[in-house]
Amino acid sequence: MNTSDRQFGFIGTILRGALLGGLAIGFYGVAEMKVNEMVGLTQPLRIWSFIIGVYVVLGLGFGIASGLGSWMLRRLAPGLRGDALTLGGIWAGWTLIYIGLPINDRYLPGILAPKSLAVNSLLALFCLGLLGLIHRNLAGRRGLHFLLSAIATSFCLGLMLAGGLYIDMFVAGSAEATTSPLLAGTLTFVGALALWILFARAAGSISGARPLLGGLASLAIALGGLALGGSMVQQSEHAPVKVIADGAGKPNVIWLVTDTVRADHLGTYGYAKPISPHLDQLGTGGVVFEKAISQAPWTIPSHWQMVTGRYAAGKSKVLGAEFQTFAEVAKQNGYDTAGFFGNYSIGRRSGFSQGLDFTVDGPVMIFFHLLFDKLPLTHALHALGVVPDDTILRWLHRHTFLEGESVRSNILVSHAIDWIDERPAGQPFFVLMNFMDAHDAYDPPEPFRSRFAPGVDPLLGFVRYNPEDGDSIDSDTFIRDRLPKLKERDWRDIVSLYDAEIAFLDSQIGRLLEHLREKGVEDDTIIVLTSDHGELFGEHGLAYHFKSLSEEETHVPLIIRAPGKLPAGQRVKSPVELNDIVPTLVELAALEGAEAGDGTSLVTLARGDQAEDQNAVVFTYLVREPRKKFPHTNPGHLLGARSGNRKYVWSSTGMHEIYDLDADPNAHDNLEAKGGDPGDLPAELSSWRERVQLEEIQEEKMDRLTREKLKALGYID
Ligand SMILES: [Zn+2]
Repeated sequence: MNTSDRQFGFIGTILRGALLGGLAIGFYGVAEMKVNEMVGLTQPLRIWSFIIGVYVVLGLGFGIASGLGSWMLRRLAPGLRGDALTLGGIWAGWTLIYIGLPINDRYLPGILAPKSLAVNSLLALFCLGLLGLIHRNLAGRRGLHFLLSAIATSFCLGLMLAGGLYIDMFVAGSAEATTSPLLAGTLTFVGALALWILFARAAGSISGARPLLGGLASLAIALGGLALGGSMVQQSEHAPVKVIADGAGKPNVIWLVTDTVRADHLGTYGYAKPISPHLDQLGTGGVVFEKAISQAPWTIPSHWQMVTGRYAAGKSKVLGAEFQTFAEVAKQNGYDTAGFFGNYSIGRRSGFSQGLDFTVDGPVMIFFHLLFDKLPLTHALHALGVVPDDTILRWLHRHTFLEGESVRSNILVSHAIDWIDERPAGQPFFVLMNFMDAHDAYDPPEPFRSRFAPGVDPLLGFVRYNPEDGDSIDSDTFIRDRLPKLKERDWRDIVSLYDAEIAFLDSQIGRLLEHLREKGVEDDTIIVLTSDHGELFGEHGLAYHFKSLSEEETHVPLIIRAPGKLPAGQRVKSPVELNDIVPTLVELAALEGAEAGDGTSLVTLARGDQAEDQNAVVFTYLVREPRKKFPHTNPGHLLGARSGNRKYVWSSTGMHEIYDLDADPNAHDNLEAKGGDPGDLPAELSSWRERVQLEEIQEEKMDRLTREKLKALGYID
């Protein structure tokens, strides 16, 4: 009989369990942080401290439960070793939740369905086996040897689970990943676990005096598993770009995309509230395109199209390697290239880092969030009224939505400044940035909240994360159920929160521009500022974006400042597309090797050397799964064209739209049923459609977690 167990009674066993649990699951938190950091996915330290803290508390709970279990089991079978059993219980329980939660969430029907019961029983059996193996591995160890082995075991299991998460999340969605990422992740985990058991047992039987050997061996195997995951990512990366021209003397290019910022909310576009002093100043020093139309009303296709200058690039959820990005052109011309992205849906996972030497993108969906969102306990506490008005979920959303899952502009700007400062003098650079601040939830930091939204209920910025639902709701449900109840005053308040977010973002862009000034490279740097799409605040009975081809969603800011190359203070009234940005930059920086795209260089227009053309035709489209359940939105795929005073939207469901922009500049009065005349636009649209092969559009498969995430962001329902 072991002596150490005898010294501790019931309370002692529970306390030791709590200690082991806090240690073990805390280790998992550290492993998750490390895996995120290894792939450059950033989180502020205080967010990580909070998350690891919560993991430790969870671990305490696991440990107490396992301690209780092992105390009872030892009454039945005195041969069992208490602490080894407790640690086995902690890891078996954690692994069960860890693997079971996403599997139940993604692939299984209700918990009591026969299929779910069968799969969950198998998972439970697997974890019971894990418990047995951990017990067997640790049962012979005492004192310090036990503690060291417990730490090694926890570290390795934590790393393996976090590695599995990384493989599942990070490789998933990558176009070239040939193996099912979940399968690869599971196999890596199970394989590493099996090897760890082999090594640990061998080490235990060879020499009980060297308890670290098994731990070290398993660490090596866990790292091997991670390397395997990493190599899968490597395989999906693109061939390196060949440099064809020397970068010497070329201007730097910084391309800023302010996600979800409407043109009419900036002072330079006539907005009355002083929320954008730095962007307005940028406009004064550059060329302002008054009618820039985004090619899609949502993030993915809009970004894909603008950086390639190709309509067809916006057809898929992952940026196709066959499209040349501006970053690749810059790279060919000797530029150093980097991307700093706040929006989860763009970045390395979706092929958006094509041509970029260095990328900072949104963190993988951390297990923490999934755990809390799906944990029945959280919902049960709410249902029982233990936690009033859903405090936990709301608090978690506040703390993890913008800062945990997306990256704030202040962090991105700091990363960009650091990277720019690392460039050798005279080395031209290209920086592409996406800022998520103005995207909902609208949760502006101080002092901008107090300045532009004083006294506004902060929860209005989280209207889709409403306590009545106990969870986030998709934006269509919001439009159907919640929007009609919002009063005009509510919308004013919501807009003021959105404006305060823009003000914060403006201050951060101002910080970046100021840094360029201080560094003395302002005059050698071309700045492009635009948005991927706008936002709806109740107009047309709609909210958010990805809803329509309305002016609110497609009219975006476009400012290009190119000292010495373009006049300051010029304003262009002709309608232009974001597809025109790439050819414009290629011409301004005299770059070689750019493939022909669908856009036209705006340089002569911006210099005033070309007559304005109000009748230029611009195109935009929204491809989605046809939806008929909400009469508020025009369902089906939408293709739009505008020229002069006419705007025409073709819908795959036959609900076309015709607007007279002279009489109705915001396009609110659909003349389709009133005998409106779309002129040549239907013909223009159908020849354009053929040219860009849009008739080929098909639904692409999306992994369920991406789907979940896009749902949380309001892109799909
Ligand atoms: Zn967006």
